[in-house]
Parts: sequence; structure tokens; C-alpha cells
Amino acid sequence: MTIRHHLPARLIRAYAAGSLPKSFATVVAAHISLCDECRAQLAAEEFAAGAVLDSLPPLYEPGDERLREALLARLDGAPHLPDEAPPAPMGIFPGPVVQALGGRPPRWRRLGGGIRQEILARDARGSVRLLHIPPGTAVPEHSHSGLELTLVLAGSFGDATGHYGAGDVEVADEGLAHAPVAGPGAPCICLAATDAPLRFRPLIPRLLQPLMRI
Ligand SMILES: [Zn+2]
Repeated sequence: MTIRHHLPARLIRAYAAGSLPKSFATVVAAHISLCDECRAQLAAEEFAAGAVLDSLPPLYEPGDERLREALLARLDGAPHLPDEAPPAPMGIFPGPVVQALGGRPPRWRRLGGGIRQEILARDARGSVRLLHIPPGTAVPEHSHSGLELTLVLAGSFGDATGHYGAGDVEVADEGLAHAPVAGPGAPCICLAATDAPLRFRPLIPRLLQPLMRI
């Protein structure tokens, strides 16, 4: 697997800090499980964060139980750090995706135009889904109110920003309106996360949006 499109440093840093919404954290974890380069960068971020913590004066003096308990209570409310050991990959699905699937194969639902999806998780802070797009098929043109992260697991897709093959991740933000087209040959299977609903240009997809839940 030759990966050409990597995670931006700011996303790796936020992931290391445990501050990403779960939808994005799943995509970041999945890419990192496939990519030596981003995995090394994550290790560097974690090392740097550890060095900062080590350089701080102790937060409480040993023996001050009240302060210690207050500190532990605050840590309980902190965002959860990435899981240390996701399950083993299953075919094209990396461990973090297998975890999101609950260890079973995807249950595809039709979206129209031959596109199928399974929504893995969805809450007020965004959603993460698997998409199965037949070769040569276009996803209706859309822009974003937030951020969209797409990781290719099999096949490929292309849009105005470039060509994305297995392992590549595309980061599309508010500035980008795009109409990705799956490459020829094999279906494009990808993992996509958003933190806000997509905005479609053509009328029909906009009408279908509530039904498609995207
Ligand atoms: Zn990478």
C-alpha cells in the first residue's frame, strides 16, 4: 500500500490529546493503523506531551489526599484517550473499523445510484459511515458546513483536489465543494466522518438528504 495523502499534523495532535470527536477519532485511528509515517508522528506527539507533563511541578504533595481525589475526579471527566489495542483487521477493514462494526461484516443499505452505506455511529458531534461506491460512480456534488474526513479502504476516488487510493485520507473543509467519482475497476469502499451535515448542490440529493441521513 503506497499512501500519498496523510493526516494533517493538527489532527494527529488533537487525536493524541484525546480531543477529537469520536467520528473523526475512528478515521484517524484507522489511517494510523495503516500508515507507518503517521504512526511515527503520533508517537512523537505522545512523547512530546509526556515530556511537558514530566517538566511540570507535581500537582499535589504526597499525603494531600483531598487534592489528590479532586484531581482524580477531574481526570474522570476528561475526554477518553484513544484505545490502546483495537481488534485485528478483518479483510480490508482496519482494527478500529472492525471495532466500530462490533466485529461483524458491514450491513450495507442502498442510498440510490448504486451507492450503499452503513452508518457506524452518529451523534450531535458528527457521524462516521462506511460507503460502497460502484466504479465510475459520482457522489453528488456537495460542500461542507464543517470538516469531512474520508479514508479509502479499497478501490479509489478522485475529485478536483487529487486522486485517493487505499490508505489515503482526504480532509475536506468548509472551503471545498466537490463531487468525488469512484475510480474504474473496483468499487470504492471508504470510511467517512463529518462533524456537520453535508450541503448538496443539485436539488434531488437535497430532497433525498433526510432519507439518506447524510
Ligand atoms: Zn499517514
